[in-house]
Amino acid sequence: MKKIIIAIDGFSSCGKSTMAKDLAREIQYIYIDSGAMYRAVTLYCLRHRLFLPDGGVDTSSLEKEMNRIRISFQLNPETHCPETFLNGENVEQAIRTMEVSNKVSPVSAIPFVRAALVAAQQEMGKEKGIVMDGRDIGTTVFPHAELKIFVTASPEIRAQRRYEELKAKGQNVNYNDILENVKQRDYIDQHRETSPLRKADDAIMLDNSHMSIKEQKEWLLQQYHHTTQEQ
Ligand code: C5P
Repeated sequence: MKKIIIAIDGFSSCGKSTMAKDLAREIQYIYIDSGAMYRAVTLYCLRHRLFLPDGGVDTSSLEKEMNRIRISFQLNPETHCPETFLNGENVEQAIRTMEVSNKVSPVSAIPFVRAALVAAQQEMGKEKGIVMDGRDIGTTVFPHAELKIFVTASPEIRAQRRYEELKAKGQNVNYNDILENVKQRDYIDQHRETSPLRKADDAIMLDNSHMSIKEQKEWLLQQYHHTTQEQ
């Protein structure tokens, strides 16, 4: 069957990655979490002290170092889930902390960071057969993707889901801090100049506030079958 590109965009913590990962596994496509790439650059900035005291980024140093930042994904043989590597180191856990979540939106608003990561993402999708999730996949990275989904849910529900996920990983987190972070990231992601978060005109909207993971999975699989039958 002809392979397609599936772009899944939407707000933070709305379950995009879970849906995208499950679909990719089911239809044997490559799955790429583009947010993990922005998080890896943010982790690099934290480790190399590229944040200024006012919370901004030392963009001139970062620009010089950008070509030293290598991000890749490898399948974990036990979980069969892709994990993120930064310059050869597995950073899958390190990029999911609140510290990184609090700093990632300003980093991802920097145009040269976006240009570098978008180019890398387009390269990954050259052969199609890929499910990629993020904020600008259907609008900028793959504007010609055959299937585009835009996922949303209320900020409170998204914060609750993220709270439970981090708690389950043993992180000591506070629901209100997470809600604040979710709202702040929504705002920055929607208002940045380069590739702001918005629904592509031809994307299908999914509000999953009141859907179970199983229901979302079935819904997405139906969209995939529908699209591939039309090809
Ligand atoms: O998807 P996740 O919440 O892990 O993404 C982390 C951050 O990376 C987002 O809040 C957003 O600022 C940025 N991002 C982006 N473009 C993408 C994916 C993520 O700007 N395609």
